[in-house]
Amino acid sequence: MKTAYDVIVVGAGPAGSAAAQRAAQAGLDVLLIEKRQEIGVPVRCGEATDIETTERFMPLDARYINRYINQYAIIGTAGDRVIVPPSSPTIIIDRKVFDAALTHEAARAGADVRVSTTALGLLRDDGAVTGVRLKSLGRVCEVRARLVVAADGVESQVARWAGLKTIPPMADYYVGFQFTLTNLRGRFDPDICEYHIGNETVAPGGYVWVFPKSEDSANVGIVIPANRARPVSPQAWLERFVERFYPGAGILSMVAGGIPITGAIRPMTADGLVVVGDAAHQADPLTAGGISLGMIGAELAMQVAAPAIKGGDVSARALREYEALWHERFGKMHGALYAVRKILTRMAEADFNRLVAQAARMPLATMSHAELITQLLRAHPALLLEARTLITTGLLLK
Ligand SMILES: Cc1cc2nc3c(=O)[nH]c(=O)nc-3n(C[C@H](O)[C@H](O)[C@H](O)COP(=O)(O)OP(=O)(O)OC[C@H]3O[C@@H](n4cnc5c(N)ncnc54)[C@H](O)[C@@H]3O)c2cc1C
Repeated sequence: MKTAYDVIVVGAGPAGSAAAQRAAQAGLDVLLIEKRQEIGVPVRCGEATDIETTERFMPLDARYINRYINQYAIIGTAGDRVIVPPSSPTIIIDRKVFDAALTHEAARAGADVRVSTTALGLLRDDGAVTGVRLKSLGRVCEVRARLVVAADGVESQVARWAGLKTIPPMADYYVGFQFTLTNLRGRFDPDICEYHIGNETVAPGGYVWVFPKSEDSANVGIVIPANRARPVSPQAWLERFVERFYPGAGILSMVAGGIPITGAIRPMTADGLVVVGDAAHQADPLTAGGISLGMIGAELAMQVAAPAIKGGDVSARALREYEALWHERFGKMHGALYAVRKILTRMAEADFNRLVAQAARMPLATMSHAELITQLLRAHPALLLEARTLITTGLLLK
């Protein structure tokens, strides 16, 4: 490891590896550090992501693709289900292999990759971030950089060290729990991703997902906002679900983890530092999917940071264009998704079941989102007040 780089990326999850790849491709000298001994483990993920973003960073490869998904099902507790196409074609991945493949691409682009290397603190000159104090294979050292990228995930400390606010309110932080189940053949559809919603009997304020891994196995997980995770824990809710739908299934693995669902933090930059991925709360504020959004966030960050580094100005002001690009692309949509989640969080299970029953009778394949929402609002005018944020964000007018 050298004593100075153009860019140090902290964290080799999807966002960090994508940032390192783009920075190296821009001709910068990059160090990518990861505190774990091995990239991608332990896996804390339902493992669904979109093909389009993946392909922009690496070739599709059967080694990390478990299933191709053409449909999603939204399922109430009264037996109705709404089938919708994914907003973009989806794959179920093996996250361990996927993350390692992405890091490999960063290394191929020229980034210096180090595992078992933990950022311990930031170096600063006149308040600006100028490097990282780190521990690598037992040795503590200081490494200088013109820019530090905080890609250290949901527990991000790096952004906090730079003075940025990253702790979400309890209501905007999902706690998740997941089993990978086997012996499911004939008991689920291996080509559909399912979302089960029911605030009183399935997942208060959240949902249960069933994402197929093979003809016989699936990731079955739950997210619940942290402020509703007591007195019954997400694990206990999930055990009830599994007991009901998949009794006797084998459990291949279990994971727990958290996801911030506030929408992106503001600011996402400081002097000499940008924040990307979960560390910047870039995950979808409704579904909490964050793999591809973190990679896109990293790409936007580097699109602005690479010329800033070359031009010798990495002040927060110069880097702020990154936030503008992010909000231009996702701000409105994420505001609307956040509002939809808040509505769903409060909705009585019987009301949600009525919505699902009605939507199940609509020709969804030929309807725009706006038409769908407008029809549902007509049938359930009580929702209109709740939906005013959607109206003001313009989602209904598209
Ligand atoms: C139960 C669950 C299910 C999910 N399911 C899905 C899903 O199906 N689809 C989807 O798109 N998203 C899903 N997500 C969210 C998704 O996993 C995250 O959005 C995604 O991993 C974010 O990527 P990232 O690179 O920002 O962070 P991470 O993947 O968390 O990577 C951060 C990395 O930084 C490293 N690190 C942390 N601190 C340091 C340090 N000080 N020094 C060095 N390295 C450090 C960590 O070890 C880690 O490897 C799920 C999350 C959970 C918890």
